[in-house]
Amino acid sequence: MQQKIKEQIDRIRSQGAVYVDSRWYPNEETHNLTMWNGNLKNASATRESGIGVRVLFKGAWGFSASSDINNLPGLFEKALDNARTAAERVTFPVRLAEKDAIQGSFSSPNRIDPFTIPFDQKVGFLKKMDDLLNQPGVSQRVADLTFIRKQILFYDSEGSEIEKNIIEVFPSIGVMGVDADGQTHRRSFSPARLGDTRGWETIDEDLFTTEAERIVRELNQVLTADSCPKEERSVILLPGIMFLQTHETIGHALELDRILGYELAYAGGSFVTLEDFGTLRYGSEKLTARANATVPNSPGSFGYDDDGVPAQDNLLIDKGILVGAITGRQMVEEANATARKQIFQGSSGANRATSFYRVPIERMTNINIDPGTDGTLEDIIKDTEKGIVLDGDKSWSIGSNREQFHFATEIGWLVEDGEITDVVKNATYQGETLKFYNALSAVGDESTWEVQYVDNCGKGQPNQVMQLGHGVPVCRFDNVRIGE
Ligand SMILES: [Zn+2]
Repeated sequence: MQQKIKEQIDRIRSQGAVYVDSRWYPNEETHNLTMWNGNLKNASATRESGIGVRVLFKGAWGFSASSDINNLPGLFEKALDNARTAAERVTFPVRLAEKDAIQGSFSSPNRIDPFTIPFDQKVGFLKKMDDLLNQPGVSQRVADLTFIRKQILFYDSEGSEIEKNIIEVFPSIGVMGVDADGQTHRRSFSPARLGDTRGWETIDEDLFTTEAERIVRELNQVLTADSCPKEERSVILLPGIMFLQTHETIGHALELDRILGYELAYAGGSFVTLEDFGTLRYGSEKLTARANATVPNSPGSFGYDDDGVPAQDNLLIDKGILVGAITGRQMVEEANATARKQIFQGSSGANRATSFYRVPIERMTNINIDPGTDGTLEDIIKDTEKGIVLDGDKSWSIGSNREQFHFATEIGWLVEDGEITDVVKNATYQGETLKFYNALSAVGDESTWEVQYVDNCGKGQPNQVMQLGHGVPVCRFDNVRIGE
């Protein structure tokens, strides 16, 4: 098969294509189990295989994909035909940033393949969680397991040959309850990175037992709590909400295709312009953010992207100044040409497709905030006069260019004169992205830093759901509007 694909790449290249690549997925599986109030509400399994082919011809892409691998010449020919047609109406001729030809492989670290675990055992875990969550105050309870396994073989006309074997495990539990006013509240748990691997072994029943008790206890505190005050306070974001803040207002805002005006669906623009790189003060000096695809054990670490570019660790924001973006081979060339200067030195290795029948687009890797020097969570609370500690993403809305945001969290704890006082319900906060990050006044140390997983980032039309990570510390922002 490998030989046949390479022959087709050479054949299309000899017909005038400047670049050809192919991603062959011999096998891709997902498995989802959801238990809702004691009933197995969903048990689904999907399995796909096929090939996607990209051809670059006279400055235009052509793409074709099929799950039928018996007519490779026809499949490659179709991609070339599509590129030929597209080449008749090119607005900006596609060029690809240089890269080295790679012969490599990557396997995500795991000890026990979750697809080898019997169905009964998985349902048994969910049932155990359901029993633990079935407590006074809880009106609805949910336990969920999602597993992904894929093998991808990448070949291109520049001599790259890359094999990737990826396994992802995403467990979560949640509870909902109704307060005296008839409003529903929820508390949930999905683990941050645990240890060096992410196979079935990371589903640690002891940990989940402890966390199940905690979310039930905290839900009950929220149900009897007063509402979050409407005022300005310092907000102290735990990783369970800081990851989403980072995702929506740093990650998505710094995808280079959005900055260039593509991807306008799904709040798809960005307030960032090409002139901003190297000069824009995105945040206070305490803010250093990076796209790090080399974090051990995260869905945002995948070895090589779907341009065949190796994983990198790149600064996005350096002590508050915007210095980098999330890029693939195509967009960096277009950005440099549009700006008439070399802003980007090459692809940052962040072009990914969700499956063989989708084209790669700029996707987040691990978009992280560096730990700071302001101590532990306790130190930060002690140093806060009037604040609120927030955790758990409940809902969010984002300006169409990521310039402002409004988040609701599952729980809030008021801080007065350096001490936690009361739990509040209906906690929300909002702000303007740049003003907010410039009000970053404390960043927790390594002890507060966690890698949170995202299993469902959506982007593109047709939609491509992607998995990634965010390594974030506890962060405090001053003078933030809360409670409305
Ligand atoms: Zn997203």
